[in-house]
Amino acid sequence: MTQWVFTFGDGKAEGQSSMRDLLGGKGANLAEMSNMGLPVPPGFTITTEACIWYYANGRSYPAELKAQVETGLAQIGTLTGKVFGDAANPLLVSVRSGARASMPGMMDTILNLGLNDVTVAALGQGSGDERFAYDSYRRFIQMYSNVVLDVDHHNFEDILEIYKERKGLTLDTDLSAADWKHLVGEYKRRVEEETGSPFPQDPREQLWGAMGAVFSSWMNQRAITYRRLHAIPESWGTAVNVQAMVFGNMGETSATGVAFTRNPSTGAKELYGEFLINAQGEDVVAGIRTPQNITEIARINAGSDKPSMETALPEVYQQFIAVAATLEKHYRDMQDLEFTVERGKLWMLQTRNGKRTAKASLRIAVELANEGLLTREEAVSRVEPSSLDQLLHPTIDPKAERRVLATGLPASPGAAQGEIVFNSDEAEAMKAGGHKVILVRVETSPEDIHGMHAAEGILTTRGGMTSHAAVVARGMGKPCVSGAGTLRVDYQAQTMSIAGKVLRKGDVITIDGSTGQVLLGEVPMLQPELSGEFSTLMGWADGFRRLKVRTNAETPADARAAVEFGAEGIGLCRTEHMFFDEERIVAMREMILANDEDGRRAALAKLLPMQRSDFVELFEIMAGLPVTIRLLDPPLHEFLPHTDAEIAEVAAAMGADPKKLKARAEELHEVNPMLGFRGCRLAVAYPEIAEMQARAIFEAAVIAGRKSGKPVVPEVMVPLVSIKAELDLVKARIVAMAEAVMKETGASLDYIVGTMIELPRAALQAGKIAESAEFFSFGTNDLTQTTYGISRDDAASFLNPYINKGIISIDPFVSLDQEGVGELVQIAADRGRKTRPDIKLGICGEHGGDPPSIHFCERVGLDYVSCSPFRVPIARLAAAQAALGKAAAGQA
Ligand code: PEP
Ligand code: MG
Repeated sequence: MTQWVFTFGDGKAEGQSSMRDLLGGKGANLAEMSNMGLPVPPGFTITTEACIWYYANGRSYPAELKAQVETGLAQIGTLTGKVFGDAANPLLVSVRSGARASMPGMMDTILNLGLNDVTVAALGQGSGDERFAYDSYRRFIQMYSNVVLDVDHHNFEDILEIYKERKGLTLDTDLSAADWKHLVGEYKRRVEEETGSPFPQDPREQLWGAMGAVFSSWMNQRAITYRRLHAIPESWGTAVNVQAMVFGNMGETSATGVAFTRNPSTGAKELYGEFLINAQGEDVVAGIRTPQNITEIARINAGSDKPSMETALPEVYQQFIAVAATLEKHYRDMQDLEFTVERGKLWMLQTRNGKRTAKASLRIAVELANEGLLTREEAVSRVEPSSLDQLLHPTIDPKAERRVLATGLPASPGAAQGEIVFNSDEAEAMKAGGHKVILVRVETSPEDIHGMHAAEGILTTRGGMTSHAAVVARGMGKPCVSGAGTLRVDYQAQTMSIAGKVLRKGDVITIDGSTGQVLLGEVPMLQPELSGEFSTLMGWADGFRRLKVRTNAETPADARAAVEFGAEGIGLCRTEHMFFDEERIVAMREMILANDEDGRRAALAKLLPMQRSDFVELFEIMAGLPVTIRLLDPPLHEFLPHTDAEIAEVAAAMGADPKKLKARAEELHEVNPMLGFRGCRLAVAYPEIAEMQARAIFEAAVIAGRKSGKPVVPEVMVPLVSIKAELDLVKARIVAMAEAVMKETGASLDYIVGTMIELPRAALQAGKIAESAEFFSFGTNDLTQTTYGISRDDAASFLNPYINKGIISIDPFVSLDQEGVGELVQIAADRGRKTRPDIKLGICGEHGGDPPSIHFCERVGLDYVSCSPFRVPIARLAAAQAALGKAAAGQA
């Protein structure tokens, strides 16, 4: 016979904490606390399997359940000396949901179940407090009717308000037993009016109604949405906990409260919580009365004149702190506790691992390890890598009010605020004038780099997570919200509008690049602080990881920031980004628009010294660490001049006719630029471009090597290869240039040549390509784009319906599609290694900073991940967790 019901109480339980899947989080921990001998009101848990059965069988119950529930009720009765439904000595229970993972979308608690017109009188007599009994009854009617019978709260609130007004009463506490008695009658009448049936008087009918409501709430819209957002499978089901009531509202020696064993915002080792004397659970969260502090020190710090639990209920307080310490030690983590004191006796209602900020998470993990409660491996595994974002960027004060104008993609984390400005020159000018600005564009292009630099943050109405704005902002560590498609930008009118609301240049907005929200006005922010615990934990993490962590950087500022964050090299230097500068873009355009090789060589000659000095600086900053430099990969549309003024500027620099130049620019216009004249296709058509870049790289290596005395080993990377012959052609020019530079300088050079694997054909042909490539770097941005056939710049508008309909769980440009794109990565890694066993393998798409994708890279056995500077700490921690997870899986 299946056991659907597990009892607990009086120092023992049929379950335990390891049975979370079957009993839910709450049920498993109630059982565990009972087994530990802690004071838990007796009760039972109906398993998640019963919920699964319920849905598999047309919302009905297994045959044995009824008898098992009766046995459970009888056992609670024996332990409490009461009888469920008894007219003279009634047992009252609470009914609560409890899934494996905590799920806010689920049914709320129902308290005082078992009360009816008869048992309420017995409760009054038993407690010696009739007012308390009728107050409990009216609370129960309201809660039960709302949750189980779907009668809206306002029905009861209206009745209460009208009654208080008629009687000239202000506070609920002013109402007498007779008042509540009268109101109970009115409440019941309203329920009958609303539902067509009288309020159920049979406690068993109440209990089954409540259990059904818990199971049904598993499939309510809120729960479904929450599960989708948190990847919780529907198949888990929820458990139901039925527990003897204990009352915190039985006078001045009764109380109810919640507490954390450590401070959940700072992580400090101090009991942190609130309680209310003479109150029931919902009063603490309802915010009607101001809760009191638990410890005396917290009361003093808060400047509260209400006594702390430490002074008001000293004996119970001592017992409570002992229980809190026991639980923290037992679970080896900070606990979130719920308790009730009934006439001087402490009862524990819940314990679970407490939610906390990133800062608290770090401090708690490090301190628990130092206290010997955790190993360092466990401490490293306890901190959520992506939460480190909160520590590296300013964030919006969680207490602040958010007036949300629109929501786009969380393209680059952190919050920023400033005056709206619609073009980059103005952004720069306003910054120079001492203003803080947010650059608002439909999309950004290379010409916006200076504006992006000047701005506090960037907001675009188009573009995805790997759009120009997103990639560049992440590299700069600037907050960015991209693809906020409901906003309309009118450059002409210098306005931004949404649903009839018009914002003008100079109006202040705040963007939250961690959530994608665009907020009206200035919102209070918290500045980042890196604590000592941060470096301690990162140091431990470094000791456990196998994957190296590099950065995607091309500017000295980015490279320096990345080294500070612990980057072990540059995995991707996008050389085309080095030409976004206003002076350089003209030479770059000259090169692109040149009619013939001579013209191109003339423009290239202007670019060479700039490239060389950039590389020297990068090599110096990286001081002997590996640096991968990628040859030009400019999507042409990003570099072509658009306006007549831009064409005139380039024409003047080239000494060319603007009309002819315009015609040439039009000729180069592409329908699908991202699938166009990009990457090595440029070097195949115009090898002199690759030659210039190779010369700049090798000359810089010689200069930097001589200056520092440390040999520089450049890694030259050819982008967008799909055919081995493409790579061979470009590689031959690189090798020839290395020879030439060695000859000219008399220096010897060590270097390697490799390729990006970012097209499906390249992944499939990796075995052949590895004959020429000494390393592969997976360009998973393009690989995702081309494997799915989804434009990385336009995806935002149509991916959302896919996510909402559950077709995909997450944007594949954010987290690697391990099944599909991942299979190509695996194939390429296998085939590449087969040809060249020591081939170096890395990833430099945006996924290189995404923790689940990093776990995938560990499984495939890549050598390194490369990500934007601000994600380096996240990658270090995720790589350590991936290595530890793999080790644990290996042991199991
Ligand atoms: C990629 O495609 O993943 C990549 C790193 O290159 P880019 O984003 O510059 O195309
Ligand atoms: Mg690419």
